[in-house]
Amino acid sequence: MEPYELSVQQTHELLVNREISAEELMRAYLERIQRLDPKVKSYVTVTEENAIEQARDADQRIKMGEGLTPLTGIPYAAKDSLSTRGIPTTCSSKILENYKPFYDCTAIRKLKSTGAVLLGKNNMDEFGMGSSTENSGFFTTRNPWNFDHVPGGSSGGSAAAVAAGLAPFTLGEDTGGSVRHPASFCGVTGLKTTYGRVSRYGLLPLVSSFDTIGPMARSAYDVALVLEAIAGHDPKDSTSRIESIQPYSEILRKTENLRGLRIGIPKEYFVEGLDAEMEAALRAAIRQIESLGARAVEVSLPHTQYAIPVYYLILFAEASSNLAKYDGVRFGLSERNVDSLLDVYLKTREMGFGAETKRRIMLGTFALSAGYYDAYYLKAQKVRTLIRRDFEKAFETCDALITPVAPTTAFRIGEKISNPLDMYLADVFVVAVNLAGIPALSVPCGISNGLPIGMQIMGPHLSEEMLLRIGYTYQSQTDWHTKHPPCWND
Ligand code: GLN
Repeated sequence: MEPYELSVQQTHELLVNREISAEELMRAYLERIQRLDPKVKSYVTVTEENAIEQARDADQRIKMGEGLTPLTGIPYAAKDSLSTRGIPTTCSSKILENYKPFYDCTAIRKLKSTGAVLLGKNNMDEFGMGSSTENSGFFTTRNPWNFDHVPGGSSGGSAAAVAAGLAPFTLGEDTGGSVRHPASFCGVTGLKTTYGRVSRYGLLPLVSSFDTIGPMARSAYDVALVLEAIAGHDPKDSTSRIESIQPYSEILRKTENLRGLRIGIPKEYFVEGLDAEMEAALRAAIRQIESLGARAVEVSLPHTQYAIPVYYLILFAEASSNLAKYDGVRFGLSERNVDSLLDVYLKTREMGFGAETKRRIMLGTFALSAGYYDAYYLKAQKVRTLIRRDFEKAFETCDALITPVAPTTAFRIGEKISNPLDMYLADVFVVAVNLAGIPALSVPCGISNGLPIGMQIMGPHLSEEMLLRIGYTYQSQTDWHTKHPPCWND
């Protein structure tokens, strides 16, 4: 077997048994990236020298048998909105093209301390705005299953890299579906963590009250290994949760069935517009989960229809405020060939931001302006509370919820890009989770016309352990997560 075919867990075994060195592993991945990534385009930066140096450190650690963790020597990549010291962190925006942070975000720092090795940074929709990675300021990532289709978004590069065997795991960011949506389009397992479970320190913000960092990998087990490493309280992020983290992977190893679990099926998520083959795959997955001992019950989340407008309104408002700092003075691009300071601001933002980013800044500035604030932003926040309460109520009668991740499988490149509303609707099943701040796991559960189908499992705040248990038990009985795209053997 080639190194790229192995899971995190299997790679770890080879490393500790000294059947492969971290450096050899790293070189194998770098070589594969060089060969295959020009087609997939999942990376914006490959940190070759850094990677080899860190891999040698990991080899030293393995040799001495000191400070070994399940991730020591394991290569990974991160979405380009996670700050990496001395390594470009662009958010796939021209405005940050040359920006190199002088510190690591907490998640990256924690991975470094486990001995995991950063291969590079993944392409994304600019600042996380999009559902297809077509809004990248640099280029569009391709879906490894079919290069004419999008990988989903906004962490499309991170999902495509895992699906194509260009990294065993990646870190994504989910503000409104950006881990789950591309995970489902690319047939990988992705976890949107509880708001605050993973520190946001050093994550370039899109919507500070929604943003979460979460792992993407080939199985729920591998996701658990990564979550263990990155989760936990961080004094540098006052919104990070203080509750201690659980030994997720150990719990999974002891899990055999799902006896006693009540799974809610929200009727608002199985409606017209949901692709028929997708619905059939989901129903089959639910039956499989029932056969493991869980019981499915129908539930209702009555305010679901408001999730998209509420999400986008709050997003426009908070994003417009978060992006105000990119003014050509402090970070990245600076258009200086102009007559006045005002023109520095104007020209930099005009040249640096893409069309979708500008659209959202304008809409957000409008929604926050005096006289409109109450009618839009405040109203949206009130409805957000109603949506959160829907979930609280549902979790009184069931432990977890199962829904689709997206209404269709990966759409074609170019299909939705000229119609922003159409693109926003691709998020119809994922954004409510962010409004409520709860965790959700996306796992592959079928294939339709050669493209993967994803199942979304949602749970109450801090229920990552249960979600991973459901995903893990499901994956121990099915093989959807082991299927690979046609470019796998290239
Ligand atoms: N599709 C969502 C949006 O465009 C994705 C946001 C995210 O999770 N970063 O807002």
